Amino acid sequence: MSASIGKNAGESETVDCEVFEICREITIDKEWDTNASKKALVAWDKLCRPKSTGGPNITDMSVWNKAALLKHLWNICKKKDKLWIQWVHAYYIKGRVPWTVKAKQASWIVHKILHAVKYLDEAGLEKAKVLTTRTYTIRTIYNQLRGEFPKASWRRLIYNNKGCPKWIFIFYLALQERLYTKDRFSKWGIQVNQTCPLCDHEMEDHQHLFFTCKYSTDIWGKLLAWQGIARQVYGWEEEVEWATKHVTGKGSKAEVYRISMAGAVYHLWIERNRGIFQQERRSSGDITRQVIQEVHCRGYMQIRMRKEMQYLKFYSYNE
Ligand SMILES: [Zn+2]
Repeated sequence: MSASIGKNAGESETVDCEVFEICREITIDKEWDTNASKKALVAWDKLCRPKSTGGPNITDMSVWNKAALLKHLWNICKKKDKLWIQWVHAYYIKGRVPWTVKAKQASWIVHKILHAVKYLDEAGLEKAKVLTTRTYTIRTIYNQLRGEFPKASWRRLIYNNKGCPKWIFIFYLALQERLYTKDRFSKWGIQVNQTCPLCDHEMEDHQHLFFTCKYSTDIWGKLLAWQGIARQVYGWEEEVEWATKHVTGKGSKAEVYRISMAGAVYHLWIERNRGIFQQERRSSGDITRQVIQEVHCRGYMQIRMRKEMQYLKFYSYNE
């Protein structure tokens, strides 16, 4: 967002706030008529992080606006051959260092530009270095203002995953353990039946659903066997760790694994919701069959995966 929006600084900030509010609304589930409706699925700052750190890289407009203001200040420092810059130099700066000038009579936009240097101080960046550099791109300074974040080990399970977008969305939430499982409701003080709707036996939480529940162990175990992977089903953290070590490459086997994992997580979550809201539940064999069929469809859409898909049979387990 450019610094020119709005007639004054307050108006510009109001526009920023309104846009943020719209973006936040998108990440909130309005179906729940409880306090949970106030809780975002994922924190806003995480959504603005780069993909390598596990965020979808949505532009944070307040930070972008700071970087855009700083570009104006950089233009002033560079004494660019533009009329308004010459005017600012002639009337306010008068040979001084631009960010030390206190132009009390200046308009709000000149104030905003001259005071934008505080954003560099806040981010711990050297103002002399940034404002005297030969080239200035808003994107580069935006990245510096946004800061550094640790890399997410699971990023390759999500990005370049050829599964359905809705699978990837649920898988993304599951990787951050942000699905609305029943244990989270009780932490928020909301009373719900804690029993897992998939096995009707144990308490539901993220670890139980993925994959210590008998129902989900059965499905994921069959999907592993279908791919020719001879190992037992682990708990969630071990499964993610195993996947980040073994199936992050570009090979078609790794691709099938990533798609299958996303598909299994999605269908388990949907089946869990069907159990709660519609009191219906299909057999684990039906879910496995559906995941395999859909993985075949997704796989055949990728030319380089077709050979691998021909080796993989359709579901053939007897219930
Ligand atoms: Zn269960």
